[in-house]
Amino acid sequence: MIDEDLKGELELFRDNVKRFIEAEILPHYDEWEKADIFPRDIWNKMGEQGLLSVDTPEEYGGFGTNFLFSMVIIEEFTRANCSGLGVSLSVHSDIVAPYILNHGSEEQKKKYLPKMVSGECVGAIAMTEPAAGSDLQGIRTIARKDGDDYIINGSKIFITNGQHADVVIVVARTNLDVSGSKGTSLFLVDADNPGFKRGQNLDKIGLHSSDTSELFFEDLRVPASACLGKLDTGFHIMMNELPRERLTLAVGAVAGAEGVLAMTADYVKERQAFGRPVATLQNTRFKMAEMATDVRVHRAFVDECCRLFLEGKLDNTTVSMAKLGTTEMQGRVVDGCLQLHGGYGYMREYGVSRAFVDARVQRIYGGTSEIMKELISRKVLA
Ligand SMILES: Cc1cc2nc3c(=O)[nH]c(=O)nc-3n(C[C@H](O)[C@H](O)[C@H](O)COP(=O)(O)OP(=O)(O)OC[C@H]3O[C@@H](n4cnc5c(N)ncnc54)[C@H](O)[C@@H]3O)c2cc1C
Repeated sequence: MIDEDLKGELELFRDNVKRFIEAEILPHYDEWEKADIFPRDIWNKMGEQGLLSVDTPEEYGGFGTNFLFSMVIIEEFTRANCSGLGVSLSVHSDIVAPYILNHGSEEQKKKYLPKMVSGECVGAIAMTEPAAGSDLQGIRTIARKDGDDYIINGSKIFITNGQHADVVIVVARTNLDVSGSKGTSLFLVDADNPGFKRGQNLDKIGLHSSDTSELFFEDLRVPASACLGKLDTGFHIMMNELPRERLTLAVGAVAGAEGVLAMTADYVKERQAFGRPVATLQNTRFKMAEMATDVRVHRAFVDECCRLFLEGKLDNTTVSMAKLGTTEMQGRVVDGCLQLHGGYGYMREYGVSRAFVDARVQRIYGGTSEIMKELISRKVLA
C-alpha cells in the first residue's frame, strides 16, 4: 500500500514541515505557552505553507494528498514538543474538515473548506457540556425548529480552538422524544452569529498555547441548511468519524513519546552523577531500553492502524485499542523520562516538563481510557 514513491514524498514533505517548525514556531513557542494562546496569524502562516487540511480534495481548495501527509504534520509538531499547537491543528484539519468533507452539502463544502485550507477560517467542534462528557447522550443543548430555521440554546465546555474558531460544529438535541443516539444533530455555526458567545480561555495545566473555551448559545438562529448531514443522525456521523479522531491522537502519542525519549537520551549522556554520565548507570540504560521498546511496539501498531485506515478497514474496536495503548504508553514514557532528568525535569525550562503535562490529557480527551476499555471489552466479550 505504501510504496517507495509515496515514502519518498512523505519524507520530503516531513523535511518541509520540520523547517517550518524550526523557523516559524520554535523561536516563539515559549512566549505563546506563557500567553496561553498562539497568535491568530499563525493559522494563516500554516495555511500559506500548505499545512492545513492537506488531504482536502483540490476542488475544495486542498491538495488532495492522502491522510498520511496530515499525520506527518501532527507527528512533527508533537515530536518538536509543540503539542499545544499540534492539538489545535488536528482538531481543525483531522476532525472538523473531514466532518464537513464527508457529511457536508456541496454548499457547505464550498463555503468552508477552501478557507480552512488557507487558514482564513479556523474550525472547532463542540460536543462536551458541563454535565455531559463521556456520556454524550446526556447533552442538553437544544436546537428547536422555528419555521425554516433552528434556534439553538445551551453551552459547551473544554472546546479546543474556542477563542480562534470561525466555524464550530455544534452537537445539539433535535428530538427529545427519542434517545440521544436517535435525536441529535450537528450544526455548522459561524462565530459571528449574534447568538454565539465565547467564554474565557480556560486555565489548563498543559497544552498552554492551545486555546480551550466554554461556548454559549443564546437563541442562536441558524437556517436549516446549517445542519451538517441528515437531521437526527448526529450520533451516527460522530461514530463514523471516530476512527480518524482517535487514530490522530494515537499517532501524536507515539511521536510525542519518540520526541521525549530522544531529548532524554541527550540529557542523560551529558548529566554527570558520581563522576560519570547518568547514561552509564545501569538503571538509566535499562529504563531507556524498556521505554524504547514500549515506544517501538506501539509505533508498529499505530503504523498498522494507519494502513488499515487508508484501506477503509480501521474499525472502532481496533482504533480504541490504539488510543488506549499509545496514550497509556506515552504517560509511562514521559514519567520515566522526567525521572531521569531529576530535579531539572520538574523545571519549566526543561522540555521534558512540558512533554509531561501536555501528555496527561491524552488519556482523557477523545474518549477517556476507561471509555476505551468499555468499548474494547464489548467486542472481546461479545
Ligand atoms: C484540553 C482539552 C481539550 C478538549 N477539547 C475538546 C473539544 O475540542 N471538543 C469537545 O467536545 N470536547 C473537548 N474536550 C472534552 C473531553 O473530550 C472530555 O473532557 C472527555 O470526553 C471526558 O469527559 P468529562 O471531562 O466530562 O469527564 P467525565 O465523563 O465526567 O468522566 C469522569 C471520570 O469518570 C470516568 N467514566 C465516565 N464514564 C465511565 C464509564 N461508563 N465507565 C468507567 N468510567 C467512566 C471517566 O473515564 C473519568 O475518569 C477537551 C478536554 C480537554 C481537557
